[in-house]
Amino acid sequence: MPLKKPILIVLLISIAGFTWLLLTARLPWLTATCIFLVSVAALLWLNRDMRLLEKAKKQLQESEQKYLQLIQNAHVLLYITNRGGYFTFVSKHAAALTGYTDEELLGQHYSMHIDPDMYQELMPYYLQQAREKIPVTHREFQIITKHGERKWVEQEVVVLYNKDGEMKGYQCWIKDITERIQYEQELIHARKAAEDARRQQEMFLANMSHEIRTPMNGIIGMTNLLLNTPLTTEQKEYIQATQQSANNLLAIINEILDFSKIRSGKMALEQIPFQLRELMNKTLLPLQLQAQQKGLQYSLEIADAVPDHLLGDPVRFTQVLVNLVENAIKFTPAGSIGIRCRVLTAQNTQVRVGFEVSDTGIGIPADKQNMIFESFTQSNTENTRRYGGTGLGLAISRELVALQGGALSVKSREGAGTTFYCELPFNKNLFLPETHSNGAVAAVPPRPALQGKTLLVAEDNIINQRVAFSTLSKAGATVDIAANGKEVIAMVQHKQYDCIIMDIQMPEMDGYTTTIQLREAGILTPVIAMTAAAIKGEREKCLQSGMNDYISKPFVPEELYMKIANNTPPGVVDFEHLRNILYNDTAYIKEMLQEFLVAMPKNVKEIQEAAAQHDWKKVAFLAHRLKSSLGIVPILNAMETTRELEKEAEQSGSIPALQEKVQQLTAIMDAACQEVTREMERM
Ligand code: ADP
Repeated sequence: MPLKKPILIVLLISIAGFTWLLLTARLPWLTATCIFLVSVAALLWLNRDMRLLEKAKKQLQESEQKYLQLIQNAHVLLYITNRGGYFTFVSKHAAALTGYTDEELLGQHYSMHIDPDMYQELMPYYLQQAREKIPVTHREFQIITKHGERKWVEQEVVVLYNKDGEMKGYQCWIKDITERIQYEQELIHARKAAEDARRQQEMFLANMSHEIRTPMNGIIGMTNLLLNTPLTTEQKEYIQATQQSANNLLAIINEILDFSKIRSGKMALEQIPFQLRELMNKTLLPLQLQAQQKGLQYSLEIADAVPDHLLGDPVRFTQVLVNLVENAIKFTPAGSIGIRCRVLTAQNTQVRVGFEVSDTGIGIPADKQNMIFESFTQSNTENTRRYGGTGLGLAISRELVALQGGALSVKSREGAGTTFYCELPFNKNLFLPETHSNGAVAAVPPRPALQGKTLLVAEDNIINQRVAFSTLSKAGATVDIAANGKEVIAMVQHKQYDCIIMDIQMPEMDGYTTTIQLREAGILTPVIAMTAAAIKGEREKCLQSGMNDYISKPFVPEELYMKIANNTPPGVVDFEHLRNILYNDTAYIKEMLQEFLVAMPKNVKEIQEAAAQHDWKKVAFLAHRLKSSLGIVPILNAMETTRELEKEAEQSGSIPALQEKVQQLTAIMDAACQEVTREMERM
């Protein structure tokens, strides 16, 4: 066993001492031998321990070396600071990351290479970590290298404690993440650029549509009005052709807009109640006439089992249906067009309805049947020349059907005909009972008349002012025009309007601001926005600013009438009846109304006086007499109220109930007199 040097020395001294003890006979030889042997044993034991210790030390050094190498070779910067934040160790990578050598860093504060603004933010954060003993934290920040270059780094910090639990410093590693951040920033920029481009495209389309729709409104409106004037047959033909072209152009603009809306995911669908039979009949009527004019047989069958009251998006549903039927007519030179509608499945509140549109037309070649649902494609280029079209209709239809949760497919034989199958899910409208029995055509509701309504149109474009004025006057309304929002504010101070039809983009004061100001001033006159803009969220913006409804330009007169009627209380006087029984003789009508205005307030006053005196017999008599006048000028609810008053007065019913009836009658008659006065002013 090799002996350690100190042990060897001690051993040699021991041997020398033992020899000396023996030679000088200072100790008996036995005692001396014992002491010698014990000493040698102790020394050998000690020698073994020392060797073990040395081995452990070596191992420790080796592993320390290994770890240090690991740290130094790592592509991250590792450093340790004391509790004040001054570097006590930095790994070699510091130079690569910060540009400072470890000598330059050691003893310096760790903030020396951190962006000063970021350091302000980081310092309290690390203090908090130490205070709250959060074991590890991650942060990303910027450092500034010795050469002034900025780099993004990720830092992990562990707080070091001594064995008494006192904080003694920080141990950190820092990784260069500049490339990742740059990549992320590039991605953000690219996404922003793409979004900007998309927004610009959307705005461009919206602006274009506004620019195109405004004059289109003028053209279509004016041709509508022109068609209602005396014209020679030739002139009428020309105007009708102009109108047809304008309508076609509008349809193309609308298709392109719809397509871009769908593609940008901006197409929102509605869930509103509608009646399927009425909707289909009304929408397909013009197409039925068109088919018949072309000499095609036309049939529409709606199976009895199909519920009538449904919830869904009627506009988008009919858009698909019209597209299919229009195509069927377009591509069928002779023969027939058939539309069938039946229930495919029904479950609780949901019903899946199948629509089939078949024709005996030119058909679609088998290899083109999938293509036709793609945008801007037609089954053959000849079509474009012969039939026109954008090739967008079916692409839009398929997307619209898919958005509604349905499916659209086609079966066709070239030269024999085509059938399109469209499946759409709807919710049943459970609030309304099914009243239809045999799928018979529901009566189209009468056109809403604007008789007796006083309207204010706010519009800056002179041609569109005239279109709106004439369209609304024709429906019986009294129409005033304001050229901008400021004029609206001024005009409503002096006159009460039933409804304001408001353009959005106007000089001086736009439609939103005007409505907001009206509402702030407590003026609650219904406002219907009328705009050529097709910007997403326009409708919501209008409603938010306090408007009641929205219609886009160019408008369909009937739709505008409907919207006005829906947003204004119904008129109480039935002037139509009066006109009918008086053969539309204006002078005679005026005379009758004049008489009404004199007699009615007098009659009501007499009833009031008799009621005040509790003379119920007289009240009954006066009410009876009033009934006959009401037969000539019918007034909403007046007949029932008068009849009830007469009956209760005859039976001398309860006095409060009788007084209430008198009051009701007074209110009805007041409203009627106001309406008659307005009508006379208009005549
Ligand atoms: P377009 O505006 O050209 O009609 P669509 O997308 O509506 O666009 O139709 C695309 C093409 O599909 C049409 O051009 C036509 O070639 C074909 N197509 C559509 N419906 C029929 C049909 N009923 N019969 C024959 N071909 C049809």
